[in-house]
Amino acid sequence: MTLSRTDTALLEDVPGFVRLRVKEVVRETAEASSLVFDVPATLTGTFRYRPGQFLTLRHEVGGEVLFRNYSLASAPGVDADLKVTIKRVTDGRVSNSLLDTVVAGAELLVMPPKGIFCLRQGTVPVVLFAAGSGITPVISILKQLLTSTERKVTLVYANRDPEQIIFREELSRLHERYGARMRLVHRLDSIQSILSAAEVQGYADSATEYYLCGPAPFMATVREGLIQGGVCEVRVFLESFDPVAAEVQPAEAPSEGESARVVLRYKGEEHQIAVGQGETIHAAAARQGLNLPFSCRAAFCGLCIARVTAGSVHLQDNLGGITDAQIAEGLTLTCQALVDSAKASVVFD
Ligand SMILES: Cc1cc2nc3c(=O)[nH]c(=O)nc-3n(C[C@H](O)[C@H](O)[C@H](O)COP(=O)(O)OP(=O)(O)OC[C@H]3O[C@@H](n4cnc5c(N)ncnc54)[C@H](O)[C@@H]3O)c2cc1C
Repeated sequence: MTLSRTDTALLEDVPGFVRLRVKEVVRETAEASSLVFDVPATLTGTFRYRPGQFLTLRHEVGGEVLFRNYSLASAPGVDADLKVTIKRVTDGRVSNSLLDTVVAGAELLVMPPKGIFCLRQGTVPVVLFAAGSGITPVISILKQLLTSTERKVTLVYANRDPEQIIFREELSRLHERYGARMRLVHRLDSIQSILSAAEVQGYADSATEYYLCGPAPFMATVREGLIQGGVCEVRVFLESFDPVAAEVQPAEAPSEGESARVVLRYKGEEHQIAVGQGETIHAAAARQGLNLPFSCRAAFCGLCIARVTAGSVHLQDNLGGITDAQIAEGLTLTCQALVDSAKASVVFD
């Protein structure tokens, strides 16, 4: 497919990112707004997604380049446009900056959809547990369940008070339309006590699948209740919004010694990194005090994507965080990248 001049202008030279225009900003609650993206026809293939997946935004705050993931709250075949919904986090750098500065017409650097928090094929009933902004991937999966399957579904959605409920009207409309096989349970801390593991046991059933998204303590409680209620762990699927292990801890040097030297360019500066046998570029950098962007460290979120400009690397694992075409183009995921050559150069931005 040939891209027009306008569309090539949308392809940004930041590795793995595309510049997308925000079509609309929708205020959902006092603390949350949705950004609706205008995806040009030539990029619809690149931005094809499955309910439950997320976009990675590259956003500058006070001169610092930051990366954050936002789940798609839209669903293919149901919503015409891609939409993410961002909830304000106290002192949060990216969430507040996006909510305070992005208006319709703004352009953002966006990585194509990724993620493995997606509906498994089957016919068994589904129970969805969401809390706060955790509703975003969950409502996408809910819309998929209702519009393209016959499966029974229960949504348990927890919030502090009624004003915090995101997509309240959309959920009511879905419930009105699909009420015969959809149960909607709003849990409000201001009215009821916080959801307990004992209460969650009431939803436990060995022939049901469970999808959870919300703050870590909420998911821990739900998971505990389900397991206590006899649900097998393999039927419980979680999406965590929390970054993995807050900061990278410098690790021990690998016992096998150095096997490669990598010149890493990050934030305009060059760093010389010694990489050990079987050590990923990301781990080697962390060991030498360089804190690179990361989130999942399992090759599915794509946050640690970088371009290999010299030498050769291969991925020890890829859970979908990078496509074969991107690898062929010279990109890699540093969290899983092992260096094959004695010397290599890797560029982040
Ligand atoms: C898969 C996924 C989907 C998400 N979907 C949504 C959503 O739909 N809606 C929503 O509102 N939020 C979502 N989040 C949370 C979102 O990505 C941000 O963490 C949130 O907006 C807070 O970011 P902040 O910059 O405002 O807060 P800050 O407090 O500035 O940042 C959060 C904290 O995490 C650290 N941190 C965050 N990301 C990284 C990183 N990549 N590398 C190193 N440290 C990091 C920061 O240093 C800081 O300590 C999702 C997160 C994930 C992982």
